[in-house]
Amino acid sequence: MNFIKHLDDVIMQKEAMHRELRRKTKYYRRQIKTTNRLRHNIEIHLDSLSQYLSTRETCPVCHESNELRLLKCRHLCCHNCLEQIHINEEDAKCPLCRERISNLLCFHQYEESDSDSDSDV
Ligand SMILES: [Zn+2]
Ligand SMILES: [Zn+2]
Repeated sequence: MNFIKHLDDVIMQKEAMHRELRRKTKYYRRQIKTTNRLRHNIEIHLDSLSQYLSTRETCPVCHESNELRLLKCRHLCCHNCLEQIHINEEDAKCPLCRERISNLLCFHQYEESDSDSDSDV
């Protein structure tokens, strides 16, 4: 008798755990969805920001104004010049202040690159 009661308790505990897990999974799925949506919005904003900047600013390195990117250090640099300093490399530095720019503010252009790491900004 006691043994069966014990089994019932164990089963109930397991079911409670499953319910909790399902609840958490649902919660995290929702969180991920929200994060992705935010990220998407940010990318759109950055895109229009760099387009806006491209119409008003020039690259401080080559003085052209096409495809300007805003760096994390808040300096502007054009796509071509960034390519030349190997922007996708870990220790790429801003041509103006030498700050590391592994995290571009406008990064959407570089997403196809073979960055296997899951580290997010
Ligand atoms: Zn340039
Ligand atoms: Zn800089």
